[in-house]
Amino acid sequence: MDSIEQKIEQLEKKIITEEKKSEAKLLIKEMKKIGIEKLPYSYTALKKFIDAETMNFHYNKHYKGYVDKLNDALAKKKSGDVELEEIIKNISRYDQGIRNNAGGAFNHALFWNMLSPKPMKLKGDLYNKISKEFGTFTKFKKKFEQIAKDRFGSGWVWLVLNGKNNLKIMSTPNQDNPLMNVVEGGGFPLLGLDLWEHAYYLKYKNKRDEYITNFWDVVNWDFVSNLYDMKIKTKLIESVEFQKKVGESSFANFCDKSESVYFQSIINDEEMKEIYSKGVEEILKSIFGHHWVESTKDEMAGFYGVESIEGRSVLNNFNTNYNIFCLLEKMINKLILEKKQPEKVFDFKKDERRNPKEVARFIRAMNFFKDKIFDKSNREFINLIKVGLLTWKRGVKTENKTAEKIKNYFEDNVRIIQTSGHGKKLDAYKGIDMEIILDGKKHKSQVKPFSGIEIEDDVITVLDSGNVEKYNFVDWLIFRDPKKGKVLIFKNNPISSGQNYKFKKESLLHEIE
Ligand code: MN
Repeated sequence: MDSIEQKIEQLEKKIITEEKKSEAKLLIKEMKKIGIEKLPYSYTALKKFIDAETMNFHYNKHYKGYVDKLNDALAKKKSGDVELEEIIKNISRYDQGIRNNAGGAFNHALFWNMLSPKPMKLKGDLYNKISKEFGTFTKFKKKFEQIAKDRFGSGWVWLVLNGKNNLKIMSTPNQDNPLMNVVEGGGFPLLGLDLWEHAYYLKYKNKRDEYITNFWDVVNWDFVSNLYDMKIKTKLIESVEFQKKVGESSFANFCDKSESVYFQSIINDEEMKEIYSKGVEEILKSIFGHHWVESTKDEMAGFYGVESIEGRSVLNNFNTNYNIFCLLEKMINKLILEKKQPEKVFDFKKDERRNPKEVARFIRAMNFFKDKIFDKSNREFINLIKVGLLTWKRGVKTENKTAEKIKNYFEDNVRIIQTSGHGKKLDAYKGIDMEIILDGKKHKSQVKPFSGIEIEDDVITVLDSGNVEKYNFVDWLIFRDPKKGKVLIFKNNPISSGQNYKFKKESLLHEIE
């Protein structure tokens, strides 16, 4: 914890002490308004990079056109006072016309400020970060150029800070911006280059590559650096504050086991699960899109840095956690009743209501109320986070205790590698929680809780063993009774799907009391 606080303090000092940086802050605030961003230099100032005529047209015709059209469209929509950055972040709520013009207005407002007639050299934190992540600064430039050159048709190339505070170079088509919630794997744009013909054609004609390489002569690295420092600081503060809020909140209200069993059965049904989990993920993406990170070599795609600084968020478990499903039903019903529409209330306890159509209606309702539900200042949302965290902690505890038990049982003949980590691909895609090496042979294993067994004929039913899933890459299915500590090891060949795992008797390999 201390190091995080220190980090913030360092950043804070930096930003407060340097006058330049507070100027930049004002600039950003200014940019959020949907006005015309003043050009911070004359049309001729950047002539090494671009001619005065292009600059004049680009600024006065193209850019001002986007701003005017955007304001017209918003006036027609009676959208009231909205900040441009908010529109961009929530662009999925708007139509294509607004998407194009808001993007055009925002991208160019950034772009003008990212250029400077004064030659500059990048130094400091961002320089170090770029060198570290791309190998060298030159390698970074080469990659940026390559991605720019690969953009077919109109668009932009960007250097982006993603949800895990990593840098990334990406390209967007048309006037899309990495901050838009419709852009997969986006983030906060730090540097951008306009790749539309209108930006270069008069001077460069078909030599777009030259325009791209000349860009480096006019980058305003001071502005870009300030954006980076500010963004890192804001993000740190945001997640630290939310982490505190979650930590301070005293209550974690779960749904009763008797209630959540209905939701478990929905999540265990393939068709309903598909509708529910995709729906929840989409809704969460539209709200926490700037925390969404695409997959890397070892880690899965998902939300990062929401209730912790950079770590994987429990939001990723929201769409499969049946207790959270149950709690969401309560939250949504409350909101429906506030709207005095009792006929629209959900009741998944009723058999006849547990069907795909009703689940889809539930997703639509959640989407309608999403801004109220998934709001960091909403106590009930904090409760969802707590429930998610506690459920996850229980899972980790089960795994640790199981490993301990197995070690004691097999003594010297066994070695256990716990592979499960929040968001590690090995676990998540393949269902591998641990590898148990017994007498030199490796057994990939998945660990689940259970409460007892029933034996009928030659079939063992493992009670309360959670969602029945197919694990194609797993050798052993291991169950642990959290109360008695008993551990059962089965061959991964269950004979049924549904609420509980069922096995033929001979699949039980070890019973560890
Ligand atoms: Mn342009």
